[in-house]
Amino acid sequence: MRELQDMITKRGVVLSDGVLKVDAFLNHGIDPSLMVAIGEDFKARFQNEGITKILTIESSGIAPSLTTALALDCELVFARKKKSLTMLDQLYTTDIYSFTKQKHQQISVSKERLSPYDRVLIIDDFLANGQAALGLASIVEQAGAHVAGIGIVIEKSFQPGRSLLTDAGYRVDSLARIASLKKEGIEFIEETKPLKVHS
Ligand code: 5GP
Repeated sequence: MRELQDMITKRGVVLSDGVLKVDAFLNHGIDPSLMVAIGEDFKARFQNEGITKILTIESSGIAPSLTTALALDCELVFARKKKSLTMLDQLYTTDIYSFTKQKHQQISVSKERLSPYDRVLIIDDFLANGQAALGLASIVEQAGAHVAGIGIVIEKSFQPGRSLLTDAGYRVDSLARIASLKKEGIEFIEETKPLKVHS
C-alpha cells in the first residue's frame, strides 16, 4: 500500500534492534485518513470471505481494525491483556510470548463475543515472530469459529512470523512488507495490488 509505505519512510523511526517506531501515525499518535485507507484496503482483500467479526489485540490493533470493521460492516472485538480473575470460566485465554517486550502475556476474550458461526478476520499492527497472531487464532479456534484470514498493517518480512502462520495454513495479507530495516533506510517487498473495492 503506497500511502502506508510513504508514511513509514517519512515518519517511521528505526530503532537499533530491528524495531520500527511508528508512534507518529499508528502506535501513539493515529493518522485518521491513513486508518480509513487501511480499512478500505483490507476490505478489498477480504470482502469475499464472508467476514462476520474482526479480532485484534489492545491497544494498537484497534484503530486499523475499527476502520476495517466499518468498511466490511461487521463487529470488532479486541482481546484484552488484563483479565478479571473472577471471570475465568467465561473467557477464552491464551499465552503469548512477546519478543519485543521479552515476556509472556496472557490475553483473553469473553466467550460472549465469539460464536462457532463466526468467520473471523484477525488484524494486528505488526507481524514479527507471529506469536500475537497465533494467539488470536487459538482464541478463534477455542470458540469453534473459523479464521478467515490474518490482516497485518506492517510485516517485518525478515522475521519468521509469516512462514509460521502460512505453514499453519492461515492466509496472511500484509499492507506493507519490510524486507530490511536499517538506520540508513527501509526496503519494502513490492506487493500486487488488492482487488477493486465493490461497495
Ligand atoms: P509478534 O507476536 O509477531 O512477534 O509481534 C507482534 C506484536 O509485537 C505486535 O502486536 C506489536 O505490538 C509488537 N511489535 C513487533 N515488532 C514491532 C516493531 O518493530 N515495532 C513496533 N512498534 N511494534 C512491534
